Amino acid sequence: MSSNETKEYDIVIIGGGPAGLAAGLYASRGNMKTIILEKLLTGGQLNNTAEVENYPGMDHVTGPEIGEEMTKQTKRFGCEIVTNCNISKVELSGKDKVVESDKGIFKSKVVIIATGSEYRKLNVPGEKEYNARGVSYCAVCDGAFFKEKELVVVGGGDSAVEEGTFLTKFATKVTIVHRRDAFRAEKIIQDRAFKNPKINVVWDTVVPEIKGNGNGVTSVILKNVKTNESKEFSCDGVFIYVGLDPNTQLFKGQLKMDNSGKIITNEKMETNIPGVYAAGDVRETPLKQAVTAASDGSLAATMAIGYIGALHDKE
Ligand code: NAP
Repeated sequence: MSSNETKEYDIVIIGGGPAGLAAGLYASRGNMKTIILEKLLTGGQLNNTAEVENYPGMDHVTGPEIGEEMTKQTKRFGCEIVTNCNISKVELSGKDKVVESDKGIFKSKVVIIATGSEYRKLNVPGEKEYNARGVSYCAVCDGAFFKEKELVVVGGGDSAVEEGTFLTKFATKVTIVHRRDAFRAEKIIQDRAFKNPKINVVWDTVVPEIKGNGNGVTSVILKNVKTNESKEFSCDGVFIYVGLDPNTQLFKGQLKMDNSGKIITNEKMETNIPGVYAAGDVRETPLKQAVTAASDGSLAATMAIGYIGALHDKE
């Protein structure tokens, strides 16, 4: 398809993580002509998750494996999926929604936004410079590069503590640096980390700088926020897990969002614009898991099918 060709669908889904894939499955299984437009590859944050142990019915599976199965299942019902699709503009307010991208223009009755979130940056010197040369946001993708090395993990949530534990499969030592004196990660995840002899925790400390030798990371500066003392700490890599920012830039000015840029929906996944739904991490929600994202996506698609049915009844 050329970039200025226009194609029409019942439902356009933006984002191919668990929320988008579940929405695609329910919409195409509900006989809607449906397409998923994904910026990178399908799977979303599942691709960055080593082991998923809290998706009911699936035990001992990796995130990428669940993502792949979800993709296959969604395609089986006829949902089209376009990957590496860069969207430049969305027009959501009219009865017909329009999505413009480098893979074409897509017109639809409904848009389901499932663009998820991306790892927040620390924004400190050395972070950008050593990105992919010792600085990483994805233990599953990059952990194996650090066999027999010493690593620092920054953060105190589920991601930092869980992925820090995963990194001990490769590293000789993992130091988790957290800005407070208690993790916010789930207790079961914390307990596993505390029992792991390769994990060391540095509390009340931030990383104001990442240092290297031009080729890769060699150390970080650790600053104790209580004493204000700083010291240099040798390491071969830094994994940063300091939270997630929603991917909502494209929709600013059109959709209602909270202060952190997450889309506000009601319990039916409806946004402030009729025919526009949001599902998964991109919306304001108290639990961000693959299972809740999939639940949001299936609910959004079911509501969307009803919305399109009502439009047809009016015609
Ligand atoms: P998160 O829960 O928002 O935690 C971010 C952590 O980074 C917090 O501990 C925070 O410290 C710290 N932080 C934030 N900004 C910082 C900065 N500038 N410098 C240093 N530290 C900073 O993010 P997450 O761990 O990525 O998790 C995101 C969501 O995904 C959560 O809802 C989580 O439950 C979910 N998740 C679940 C699983 C699972 O179920 N197994 C796995 C991964 C993620 P404070 O604690 O002081 O705020």
